[in-house]
Amino acid sequence: MAPSTIACGFTVITGPSGVGKGSLVKLLLQRHKEIWLSISATTRAPRDGELDGEHYHFLERDRFFNLVDSDGFLEWAEFAGNCYGTPVKPVKEKLSDGIPVLLEIELEGARQVRKNFPEALQIFLAPPSFDELEKRIRGRATDEEEAIQKRLVRAKEELKAKDEFDAVIINDDLLTAVSQIEKQMGFESP
Ligand code: ADP
Ligand code: 5GP
Repeated sequence: MAPSTIACGFTVITGPSGVGKGSLVKLLLQRHKEIWLSISATTRAPRDGELDGEHYHFLERDRFFNLVDSDGFLEWAEFAGNCYGTPVKPVKEKLSDGIPVLLEIELEGARQVRKNFPEALQIFLAPPSFDELEKRIRGRATDEEEAIQKRLVRAKEELKAKDEFDAVIINDDLLTAVSQIEKQMGFESP
């Protein structure tokens, strides 16, 4: 795996559901152990194999909105019928300790971060085509048809916003996409 040298302080990765954000982030974290990935809170039910506190903090809606009301989130948004938010405290702690912070969030959340942290690097991960995106969402086999439809509708909207971002990376070949992201983040090539 590539050794890390320089790290960008604060990076946000966005892109439509099924584009490969999770796969790419996993690889990035394996290659750069110093990166800290924020664990989001969500009102979505856990998928098979997802663990509370590891993949997400799974919260009831009441608890989620208590946190919204008490400014517990750096950003939050509703996506395909569920709420998702980034707990603010750990992010601020890591940034003040000089640890590179990574958020993997949807478009509305990325826009909120852009407003409050304009220095953060914002990366949009795009699919090679819409058909390939649909294949990936279906191939992942984690969502019901209704959820898939909501995600595909939302994906069309998200794709229109790609030019707002500092960089657009096409996730065709995963390793190529990871190395393009590393370059954007200021890591030296392996
Ligand atoms: P997201 O986190 O953006 O919703 P995932 O990481 O869950 O997306 O990926 C969705 C599906 O696409 C998974 O089955 C994953 O294995 C597959 N996938 C990810 N990247 C690629 C790629 N570059 N080429 C082909 N399939 C991919
Ligand atoms: P999923 O249900 O597939 O895990 O996530 C759905 C979408 O929510 C993905 O686009 C993911 O990036 C986004 N997401 C995950 N955590 C957060 C968060 O904390 N805030 C926002 N705004 N979006 C998030």
